[in-house]
Amino acid sequence: MNTKAYAAHSPSIPLAPFSFDRREVGAHDVQIEILYCGVCHSDIHQVRNEWGSGIFPMVPGHEIVGRITKVGEHVTKFKAGDIAGIGCFVDSCGVCPNCQEGIEQYCDVGMVGTYNSKEKDGSPTYGGYSTQIIVNEKYTLKVSDKLPLQNVAPLLCAGITTYSPLRYVGVGKGHKVAVVGLGGLGHMAVKFAASFGAEVTMLSTSPSKEADAKKLGAHNFVLTTDAEQMKNATKSFDFILNTISAQHDYATYLNLLKTNGTMIVVGVPPSPSEVPAMKLIGQRRSIIGSLIGGIKETQEMLDYCAEHNITSDVEVINADYINTAYERMLKGDVHYRFVIDTASLK
Ligand code: NAP
Ligand code: ZN
Repeated sequence: MNTKAYAAHSPSIPLAPFSFDRREVGAHDVQIEILYCGVCHSDIHQVRNEWGSGIFPMVPGHEIVGRITKVGEHVTKFKAGDIAGIGCFVDSCGVCPNCQEGIEQYCDVGMVGTYNSKEKDGSPTYGGYSTQIIVNEKYTLKVSDKLPLQNVAPLLCAGITTYSPLRYVGVGKGHKVAVVGLGGLGHMAVKFAASFGAEVTMLSTSPSKEADAKKLGAHNFVLTTDAEQMKNATKSFDFILNTISAQHDYATYLNLLKTNGTMIVVGVPPSPSEVPAMKLIGQRRSIIGSLIGGIKETQEMLDYCAEHNITSDVEVINADYINTAYERMLKGDVHYRFVIDTASLK
């Protein structure tokens, strides 16, 4: 199944056109013609090998929406013509306690990533900066055709990565929630936290994003580079959702948590941050991490978004703009997710 794509051939050179063969459609597989694929900051970390163990050539992309063109003989959930989504993983062991519980992202054996990973047979996985993908129906999401699909694609990673921890800690009415970093994840976190009834504060390094943060649903805005504003925000939040992609100091943000407050880390800077014990014990604060979400919860999130008319704010690009898009994301110049129109690959 010849597939056109954009790939990184090594960590140090720009992405370029690439073509490769996908497997044939198996009995439990669906074949999806990809329509849109979001651009996540994890794509940049991985093509630049900032997390190590990159597999090259690498076709990134794990925010995939498309139309099913063919289904295997044992497929029951989908038929040709349905709209479907693929997120960050395409397989897992299926039998460990976490897989049984529907939190396959924490599979004991390790989930099979949508790209930069190996299938169970050892072949490399290639992601959504491509014209088509073939995935077992168990790891394929149903997508409503009520919402504009280019705005739905980012829900498959940015959406679930923020929805899942906000649900896990029970964010709702009466909570003060801060979101750090107004990018792809941050803008979805603001929308979800506001939709769940919390009072939301955007913590950002970019003064130019204040008006947008408020349009997205934030009630307050704190410029994190302004010492006075940061001082005034001391001990004011129940939860902080930290989406920062670059090196930063956790302690700065821990100061802003109330007694018993929790900072949820979802951003993955390439090198570790120090955690001063005093910042935790002094107010019984905690830090937790969270990785995307399982298939069941991703479907719940997509259905919630269709019901509540929640989607991502996107800038649709052609595939050949990808290297420029990466440079802009690294400068924080993203409003608020780039999405590749994969028709531009054909
Ligand atoms: P993004 O769109 O590039 O947004 C990141 C935002 O962080 C920027 O827009 C900027 O917001 C802020 N920022 C950047 N550098 C900063 C710095 N040095 N200090 C303070 N703030 C800074 O990235 P994204 O796609 O949302 O991804 C964010 C992070 O989450 C990445 O590390 C990514 O790998 C990770 N991620 C994790 C998961 C998971 O499952 N846990 C899933 C997906 C992505 P302001 O301009 O508002 O300051
Ligand atoms: Zn992602």
